Amino acid sequence: MHFMITDYILEIAYLAASVTFVLGLKLMANPKTARKGNLIAAAGMCVAVAGTVFLYDDHHGHTSRESVKLILIALAIVIGTVIGWVTAKKVKMTAMPELVSLFNGMGGACAALIGLMEFHHNTGNISAVMTILAGMIIGSVSFAGSIIAFMKLNGTMSKPVRLPSYNLINNIFLLALFADAAWMIYSGTSSSLMLYLLFAAALLYGVLFVIPIGGADMPVVISLLNSFTGLAAAFGGFLYHNQVMLTGGILVGSAGTLLTIVMCKAMNRSLSNVIFGAFGEGSAKAAGGAAAAKGSTKDIGATDVAVLMNYSKKVVLVPGYGLAVAQAQHVIHELEMLLEERGVEVKYAIHPVAGRMPGHMNVLLAEANVDYGKLVEMDEINPEFENTDVVLIVGANDVVNPAAKSNPASPIYGMPILEVDKAKNIIMNKRSMSAGYAGIDNDLFYNPKTSMFFGDAKKALTDLVSELKTL
Ligand code: NDP
Repeated sequence: MHFMITDYILEIAYLAASVTFVLGLKLMANPKTARKGNLIAAAGMCVAVAGTVFLYDDHHGHTSRESVKLILIALAIVIGTVIGWVTAKKVKMTAMPELVSLFNGMGGACAALIGLMEFHHNTGNISAVMTILAGMIIGSVSFAGSIIAFMKLNGTMSKPVRLPSYNLINNIFLLALFADAAWMIYSGTSSSLMLYLLFAAALLYGVLFVIPIGGADMPVVISLLNSFTGLAAAFGGFLYHNQVMLTGGILVGSAGTLLTIVMCKAMNRSLSNVIFGAFGEGSAKAAGGAAAAKGSTKDIGATDVAVLMNYSKKVVLVPGYGLAVAQAQHVIHELEMLLEERGVEVKYAIHPVAGRMPGHMNVLLAEANVDYGKLVEMDEINPEFENTDVVLIVGANDVVNPAAKSNPASPIYGMPILEVDKAKNIIMNKRSMSAGYAGIDNDLFYNPKTSMFFGDAKKALTDLVSELKTL
């Protein structure tokens, strides 16, 4: 095999692209530099794709430069770019988590399609077939699972679906998948039927894997699916001896795995407990019923909240999913600045699973230019609630639900929460008495220290800011 100058240029392009991925990831660790990091990594990906399209040569007379291939590749890139661009531009901030899930699913689908395409080119080559089937199975599970996660996030599939003995069924299914793949590798079969059966079974397993998981456990599953996609892409990298695909896949896979660990820790649940575990609908109803019997609630209006805050020393703001829905990030920042001008110390309490995607609140508040130093993680802010005069909860619910600490029957029992009930005054802004994502009632509504500040977050905070200005 003769190496040509183009091969060397291609390898250098791949190396440069790999470096941009690592650099991009590093810059994404801080909201201030995240946009730049994303652009740098995207530029690297463009270099890698352009390099493959124009420079790749397999030394068997196949290049990607043949005109029909070039036209097809260009067409696919144009269609994909237009769809991706338009959806990303149009998507509402609150629908971002669904979109991310969908895009993750597309990565899995690509890995699965590579498997379907390459299987017949490699029959007889045991190590290649192993790599191909592993990538195809993991990619298919990730694709089907991400589509279910997408439906759960956008509310199309609001309740977990539990088949009878679903754990047993899922585990047997998984073993059957492995056995089938092992047989295909061992027998060296080139049967298309076997291949498509394995593909269909992996898709079905992806569905079975995610449908029973519900309530507050979704963040863990989402990051796990993310790591699956990375792993599947890395198998593609092995197959093609493509360094940039390998690096990209490993980075996504390991970042997803780390995030899964962080999310598990945030939920105080083991991964096996999330996957095979016990987020029961029955107990959700029981927990909800118990809370509903807790007594009456107290209402408060913008004027009284303004007075209370104006004479406070320390205020903690707790953002949640509702803040994102209402797009009230700018007005909460205005409130924070107004209070600080009046000598009130203001901090934001950030729960790791608040909102609908990892880091949702950080991204949301960064968009409104909130000083990053004011965002305090759960473990650090919890001891501070004792000497907080007012805690204002804006569109958060599950992440402040005391049932997680006090009610063993609650499905979120054991999940660490923001301990807002230690503050002197609790103001809770939401539109109604409805539950949050986990679908359970919240005892905090009935706490004697709590006042319900009903209304859409943007409207309520705007009123509060106007009232504060008159004081
Ligand atoms: P929740 O989903 O628990 O609660 C959000 C609350 O916001 C609702 O109770 C709703 O009450 C209120 N709300 C909705 N719209 C508005 C509005 N316009 N103005 C004011 N309030 C509004 O949110 P949290 O952030 O507390 O918790 C996140 C939940 O989502 C957790 O259970 C978590 O596990 C789950 N999850 C998190 C993911 C992640 O990665 N972060 C991914 C998937 C799920 P009302 O209707 O009465 O206004």
